[in-house]
Amino acid sequence: MKRRHFLKNASLTSVGLAVGSTLTGCTDAATTKSKISEEKPPMTMNKKPIAICTWGFVAANAKAGEALSKGITALDAAIEGVAIEEENIKNTTVGKGGAPDREGNVTLDACVMDSNGDCGAVVCVENITNVAALAKQVMTETPHVMLAGEGAEAFAYSQGFKKEKLLTEASKKAWEAWLKSPEYKPIINIENHDTIGMLTMDNNGDIAGTCTTSGLSYKMKGRVGDSPIIGSGLFIDNTIGGATATGMGEEVMKTVGSFLIVELMRNGMSPQAACEEAVNRIVSKNDRYKDFQIAYIAMNKAGETGAYCIHEGFTYMKFQDGKNENIPSDFYHKS
Ligand code: ASP
Repeated sequence: MKRRHFLKNASLTSVGLAVGSTLTGCTDAATTKSKISEEKPPMTMNKKPIAICTWGFVAANAKAGEALSKGITALDAAIEGVAIEEENIKNTTVGKGGAPDREGNVTLDACVMDSNGDCGAVVCVENITNVAALAKQVMTETPHVMLAGEGAEAFAYSQGFKKEKLLTEASKKAWEAWLKSPEYKPIINIENHDTIGMLTMDNNGDIAGTCTTSGLSYKMKGRVGDSPIIGSGLFIDNTIGGATATGMGEEVMKTVGSFLIVELMRNGMSPQAACEEAVNRIVSKNDRYKDFQIAYIAMNKAGETGAYCIHEGFTYMKFQDGKNENIPSDFYHKS
């Protein structure tokens, strides 16, 4: 209902590149209802391949889309895509150049999940840029799902990853400025870019995903958020679909957000309705939602996509049919 209201008053202010795609996204949403029993299974298959990712990461999503179009598998395309942001030193929320913890250490978190249900994750890793690729190595080359800290770093070197200094001069300066009056107050929609969570569907219709981040800026040493936690920051079930998250990780973890979305889709919800329900689970129990942002994106097996967040300002990328578009997400908190 809220979604229809949104459509009626469609003042889709955004960094939007494509109104057409926005309306396509909304059509998915408009046909959804929030009651599971009223959901209908999707009738038509959307054109493959598809890549979607959190925020306006144009180049990363385009890279994944190009890779998929060349026939690269869903997981490898997603890893290639997010590597663009992991290596982008201007992005202070992912990879090299990411904001440090309050003691000045840049520590990265990432996970991957494949179409066959395998997954891998690394948490609190220093000195390694491409942590999504490292998470894949954990998945394929170890008997484990998750490696942390020094163990993950040592494993990275054994796999040929190179040691890199992740704290850039710009991030160091920003951290030093923060130290003058250190307060832990994450800013909603910080710089309009954040964790990159990506979901891909390849030419075979297989779905995979990855989520990679430097976590909340100036976090406590050792803090790990939702992004590398399978089920919270990312979940894929290739028979149903996938979901990924960005925003205040602690709240995503409490509701196991991405797993929840996939389970809601399993029970018949569209990706859009499932993202809305996952946000509702958080805001209905938590008055503090006014102070933090959480956003979800999701894709189902028919290639339908959806997104929803708490506060205005979140956008996501969608690559399909040769187009790579930035789409504003509907949001819960309408003042
Ligand atoms: N979800 C990430 C974390 O909690 C941060 C973000 O996406 O803003 O580490």
